[in-house]
Amino acid sequence: MTDAPHPYGPLEMLIDGKWTGDGAAGEDVFDPATGEVLAHLPHAAPDDLDRAAAAAARAFPAWRARSALDRGRILRRAADLLRDRADRIAWILSTEQGKPLAQARIEIGVSADTLDWCAEEGRRIYGRIIPSPVPGVEYRALKQPVGPVAAFTPWNFPLMMPARKVASALASGCTIVLKPSEETPGAAVEFARALQDAGLPDGVLNLVFGVPGMVSERLIAHDAIRKITFTGSVGVGQHLAALAARHGAKRCTMELGGHAPVLVMEDADLDRALDLLGPFKFRNAGQVCIAPTRFYVHDSLHDRFVDGMAQMAKGLTLGPGTAPGTGMGPLANPRRVAAVRDLVEDAVAQGARLVTGGAPVGNRGYFFAPTVLADVPETARIMNEEPFGPVVVTARIASVDEAIDRANRLPLGLAAYAFTRSAATIARLAEGVEAGMLGVNAIAVSTPEAPFGGVRHSGYGSEGGIEGMEPYLVTKLLAQG
Ligand code: NAD
Repeated sequence: MTDAPHPYGPLEMLIDGKWTGDGAAGEDVFDPATGEVLAHLPHAAPDDLDRAAAAAARAFPAWRARSALDRGRILRRAADLLRDRADRIAWILSTEQGKPLAQARIEIGVSADTLDWCAEEGRRIYGRIIPSPVPGVEYRALKQPVGPVAAFTPWNFPLMMPARKVASALASGCTIVLKPSEETPGAAVEFARALQDAGLPDGVLNLVFGVPGMVSERLIAHDAIRKITFTGSVGVGQHLAALAARHGAKRCTMELGGHAPVLVMEDADLDRALDLLGPFKFRNAGQVCIAPTRFYVHDSLHDRFVDGMAQMAKGLTLGPGTAPGTGMGPLANPRRVAAVRDLVEDAVAQGARLVTGGAPVGNRGYFFAPTVLADVPETARIMNEEPFGPVVVTARIASVDEAIDRANRLPLGLAAYAFTRSAATIARLAEGVEAGMLGVNAIAVSTPEAPFGGVRHSGYGSEGGIEGMEPYLVTKLLAQG
């Protein structure tokens, strides 16, 4: 990386306002476009985790006592710093995670907007006056910050996932210990630096890295931690929720996987569907929990839909995220390459038609060809397991009822999408599709202003919108005579 315009690293942890970890044992961070080492990442020892949790507990009373306006000013300053530093942070994010620079810039913009939204929304955390049933006694429901939070975020959005959790927690008056993914730590370090430079008091945000299982067990068990928030796979989420239950029924927000169905009805505007879904499918090489995944297309439109998606896939230029002209970067790690290849091979063995792509590309880095699989049977693993990769998977449908049945076939329910011109069909979908977010003739289901979260195995609790503050608040009844 001698010609890199911005250096990657050094990577450190932030505990009680001090950057720490220089020289500590840990692991290497790799560039997914080359497989080469980018930097060394220090790991927290159990003592470091205890110090981080204790720092969050010590900082909590003063932070919750500050006015929401005051807290919001710091968040807004941090948002502006992210925007000022966007060139450098985009480079770091794209280098460690693989997404094209343009997508990294959008992620930075949305992260800054999330800080701004939460800064404002923190000023509108109201309680409630309850009409009294008892003469001489006033009843009030008070909303108060839950306390120090432990947050765990994944590698697919190295900046936005931390931003969502940290912004809502801090705006609500909570303090936090954040453990981002060890595979993409650089953007999270920059995020913490922006908040510190914006004037965040010591201990309000602590940043740690380590062996995930050890870090989460230690933090969740710690007396100081009152709430857990996790984004990642269903299996890990279930494990963390069980730990949280064991250590005092601690509150959880779980944003787990999805397997988003896309229902393209007979009366859909096919051109609009293709224009929106093509770029959306291959964004971040498909490694998005709300990525459109199972495309159930009406028989009369199916073949044209497959052709359109195949053209889109063939037109994408693969390359390092930081290279000009890259349309799709590498997958984030070698696990994904192996997993996506296995899913594609299984589908083909079960009778799916491989229209384009289908294999890893090159002998350097973790590239996988944008892939289209048509007429995929429901028994194929890829129809049942989240592919988290650049694969379009199609099947034919004949009616609205069948579309809804197929959409609800899996126990997951994060995002779902539909394309139709019929108001009656939209009403049936709104009622019938089991999902946390439903986009109809639209894909923009993730914005700072709107609630984001899943149902069933996709988890519980909202991030974003007014609803995104709720998980960081507890309700206290004050009955005053
Ligand atoms: P994984 O299950 O090993 O890890 C998922 C995330 O959880 C990673 O960020 C990891 O660091 C973290 N993690 C793992 N064990 C943990 C523990 N005991 N305590 C705390 N954090 C822990 O899987 P992976 O190989 O990284 O990704 C595979 C699958 O995970 C994907 O196919 C996808 O289904 C899912 N995933 C979902 C999201 C999302 O946005 N919902 C993000 C990343 C991965």
